[in-house]
Amino acid sequence: MHNIHHWIDGKAVEGASGRFSDVTNPATGEATGRLPLASVSEVDTAVESAAKAFRAWSQASLTKRTQVLFDYRELVNAHRDELASLITAEHGKVHSDALGEVARGLEIVELACGIPQLLKGQSSTQVSTRVDVESLRQPLGVVAGITPFNFPAMVPMWMFPLAIACGNTVVLKPSEKDPSATVRLVELATEAGVPDGVLNLVHGDRTAVDRLLEHPEIAAVSFVGSTPIAKHVHDTASANGKRVQALGGAKNHMLVLPDADLDQAADAAVSAAYGSAGERCMAVSVVVAVDPIGDELVGKIAERAREVRIGPGTDPASEMGPLVTAEHRDRVASYVPKAREQGAEVVVDGTGHVVAGHENGFFTGVSLLDHVTPDMDAYRDEIFGPVLCVVRAKSYEEGLELINSSPWGNGTAIFTRDGGAARRFQLEVQAGMVGVNVPIPVPVGYHSFGGWKDSLFGDHHIYGTDGVHFYTRGKVVTTRWPDPSDGGVDLGFPSNS
Ligand code: NAD
Repeated sequence: MHNIHHWIDGKAVEGASGRFSDVTNPATGEATGRLPLASVSEVDTAVESAAKAFRAWSQASLTKRTQVLFDYRELVNAHRDELASLITAEHGKVHSDALGEVARGLEIVELACGIPQLLKGQSSTQVSTRVDVESLRQPLGVVAGITPFNFPAMVPMWMFPLAIACGNTVVLKPSEKDPSATVRLVELATEAGVPDGVLNLVHGDRTAVDRLLEHPEIAAVSFVGSTPIAKHVHDTASANGKRVQALGGAKNHMLVLPDADLDQAADAAVSAAYGSAGERCMAVSVVVAVDPIGDELVGKIAERAREVRIGPGTDPASEMGPLVTAEHRDRVASYVPKAREQGAEVVVDGTGHVVAGHENGFFTGVSLLDHVTPDMDAYRDEIFGPVLCVVRAKSYEEGLELINSSPWGNGTAIFTRDGGAARRFQLEVQAGMVGVNVPIPVPVGYHSFGGWKDSLFGDHHIYGTDGVHFYTRGKVVTTRWPDPSDGGVDLGFPSNS
């Protein structure tokens, strides 16, 4: 068991609250790390350090900030294998998938390297006689980032590189289930030259999170996690006067029209449903098969699902690793018998799957449920595991209506060869991210990521230009340098002439 530390003011700090939790390797079931859970005063120390660092960092030149970010990009890239191993050891996802996560996080570091272009203001000359106007964007102060277990490297990297590039200082609170990759990212930032106090990290549970939501020095909160906690974070931080972006859970539908290439659609459904053991907020969890292709599509998905190789993430032969905890694995598995009782057809039953040599790991197989209806628990809940539901629809309209009735609106996809149908779908569907023959449409770094409805509380999506706007506030400066001939009192409202 190794001791995990907070990172405050540029150095590792031991937990002092006396409260700890275990970090576990999901492939073996063994506790591998002892995680300190921060008290209110430990959170306050991190916020104080960030507030102190803000004075100098917010004044640092764009050249200084970008030099540090370029160096950071190189360091993270050089350590990507190590970061991926840390992710696999605590999250469980397979190494290649973990490497993909690091790469997608690096995209945002690369975006942040271009901050001078993104932060450029606008100006208008001579809006009135001898009057010029300039719009500029300035940092907010100390911002908090609270992140989920399923992307312990990528999601923190959605937040802090842009936040610090904009001149803010940061306190991160990573997931207590798999914190080590986030810790390593923060250590590397110090190594790259991010000044002490600019990027801090505290571990913890609700005590730490709630302190960040109410601390008077915190100007803004970025949150990614489940819908109930996203709503709690949004409501509490907003009530305390903070700017908030709180990204929540999802139930992503893939609509397959009868003219689609069914082999490609089946490949996409299996990859997007079972990749990372279904623990992705952009995972496809519902396939909507439009008549008459349901039976054929389910057959093709089942064929592929039975071939998914399950094993520890460290084995290059594994395609899917374990779930993050035993409790989560059991909860995920419970949806399969429940769906059967409620009238679904269990086409592939992955429950009870054991990986030889890893009997204590938190493994389950992949499951495929057909003839699922919207009243079933497997449809209504975010399962967040390798259980794919298939709902049959009679028409495009019926499929669209089903998708638009969902309380979530994160990602969705349509599979078709018909450009007109795809165009209608992209305009008519109520979701923040839409794929056309792309099952997991996570936007590239220079577009923003975010869902609709219960998948995002707040106005700003994350990263991209929305991210820059979230981490800055606008100011408009109106300037007149008087000419010696100017003068005289005028009580009228300023007009432009
Ligand atoms: P979670 O909501 O349980 O935890 C997220 C963070 O909130 C963690 O740091 C956790 O410590 C903290 N937290 C947990 N309970 C809390 C409480 N009662 N009060 C205050 N803070 C609390 O989420 P998770 O299980 O770590 O992650 C999975 C969820 O995240 C899924 O619902 C998934 O869809 C969602 N997610 C969404 C996105 C997105 O972009 N929309 C991305 C990744 C994950």
